[in-house]
Amino acid sequence: MIKKCDVIIVGAGVIGTGLARELSRYKLDVVVMEKEPDVGWGTTKANSGIIHAGYDAKPGTVKASFSAPGNKKYEEWTKPLSVPFKRIGSFVSTKEESQLDKLEKLMEQGHENGVDKLEIIKDKARIKDLEPNISEKVEAVLHAPTAGVVAPYKLTIALYENARENGVDFFFNSPVEEIEVTNNSESDGRFAVTSSEGEIHGDYVINAAGISSGKVAKMVGDDSFSIFPARGEYHLLDSEIQGYVNKINFPLPTGDSKGILVTPAAEGSIIFGPNHQPLEKPSVATTRQGLDQVFNGATDLFPDIDTGKIVTNFAGLRAKAGSDDFEIGESEAVKGFINVGGIQSPGLTAAPAISEHVIGLLEEKGLTLEVDQSFSPSREPIPNFADMDMEEISEYTDDFRAAKEIVCRCEEVTRAEIEEAIERGADTLDGIKFRTRSRMGSCQGGFCTPRLVEILSDELGISPKDVTKKGDGSYLLDGETKEG
Ligand SMILES: Cc1cc2nc3c(=O)[nH]c(=O)nc-3n(C[C@H](O)[C@H](O)[C@H](O)COP(=O)(O)OP(=O)(O)OC[C@H]3O[C@@H](n4cnc5c(N)ncnc54)[C@H](O)[C@@H]3O)c2cc1C
Repeated sequence: MIKKCDVIIVGAGVIGTGLARELSRYKLDVVVMEKEPDVGWGTTKANSGIIHAGYDAKPGTVKASFSAPGNKKYEEWTKPLSVPFKRIGSFVSTKEESQLDKLEKLMEQGHENGVDKLEIIKDKARIKDLEPNISEKVEAVLHAPTAGVVAPYKLTIALYENARENGVDFFFNSPVEEIEVTNNSESDGRFAVTSSEGEIHGDYVINAAGISSGKVAKMVGDDSFSIFPARGEYHLLDSEIQGYVNKINFPLPTGDSKGILVTPAAEGSIIFGPNHQPLEKPSVATTRQGLDQVFNGATDLFPDIDTGKIVTNFAGLRAKAGSDDFEIGESEAVKGFINVGGIQSPGLTAAPAISEHVIGLLEEKGLTLEVDQSFSPSREPIPNFADMDMEEISEYTDDFRAAKEIVCRCEEVTRAEIEEAIERGADTLDGIKFRTRSRMGSCQGGFCTPRLVEILSDELGISPKDVTKKGDGSYLLDGETKEG
């Protein structure tokens, strides 16, 4: 046994990491076990980053009960952690007057779900004033001013850093393979959780394993739900184009999805997507057909957008449960085993409300919650040295050369930021990317990758050959070139 703790969380997506951070307010021993080398590399890193207003989910569903409350808590989560979050508002647009009743229905649904400030705008001049480049053909929109955007990976990294600061233990590269229900609550804990890294014992297990949450539940004999993955593909545009789109723009939703959206991302670029493709087996490979569908949907709403500014594409996987709803609650099969599975959209939005609910549930099931007076709610972001003058820089470092040495030219990321990211736990190229935005710009790492390899190798004291893109054998270099 590596250790005994109070709560073991399986999965470090926004749900598991958010729960870990919220549990770190109490005098508890909390462990997070994550199969990947870093936080947020499941569905959390590849989604639209929208904090939905909360009108989409059918009233009465679990999803609906957490959407608007989650949205309302976003400043509470993001401000102390210094994570940029902007309430830019969303539009659902229609080009047909005959579809107005659908907007009205969505608005009614929103009111039932507790969403504030919804309005239908039919005045075309006002629509154009709020969103100048939207198609001339748009006749009416449902405007939800409370909707916002956040960088989901940045939020999750911030939650992780704060949880770790407050005493939570994270075990990476630790896929949970087996969970034994031992029922030895006094000494060894009710559960023995085994990963390739060893065995951890705990009194409560929270299953926040996203796309694998159905499989993790089955490890304790709970087969109450299964996950059916559905892929969503995206185009990402260069941040040069920021300002062309102001709001989160949706068409009218279809049965399975909210439709192809066009939105500014929290960090400046614009994204198009996602489509909805149910899959037999999980895969985040993008497809020509899917990307064309996304392109056509986006340019239908913004016909003149400069699509030459598309710099890359990516896909995410929805963890859709058979019920098409969140699966949250103590397992009927096993006491102390809490499922937080099937968290498809709007799981990012709902995360703060889900955390609050699950912590209440743990207390109801017998976990003692004693507030830890030493809890610190805040966390400093990695400084943006490129925009600072020397006096500001001197508050952080006396290595002015590192603070002004631009490594990623597209996103203006300095060496000092990259070193700081490594110091905070990044040990792969993707770990640096999600913390600093290097390799996210128009050249997609064409210029900075060799330099990043060099810095990672120096800082971690490893050979450049051992630097990986995202762990698990994803090496970039094969060996030294031979002379002659
Ligand atoms: C295309 C798309 C668009 C979306 N857009 C939005 C949006 O705009 N707004 C919104 O609110 N929501 C959105 N969502 C939903 C949102 O992304 C998810 O609800 C949220 O990220 C789920 O987080 P999670 O922590 O449950 O899952 P994940 O982020 O998948 O985390 C689960 C973690 O568990 C780990 N894991 C799995 N198995 C094991 C194991 N055996 N042992 C250890 N670790 C394990 C995984 O590696 C992973 O890190 C979207 C989803 C998709 C797919």
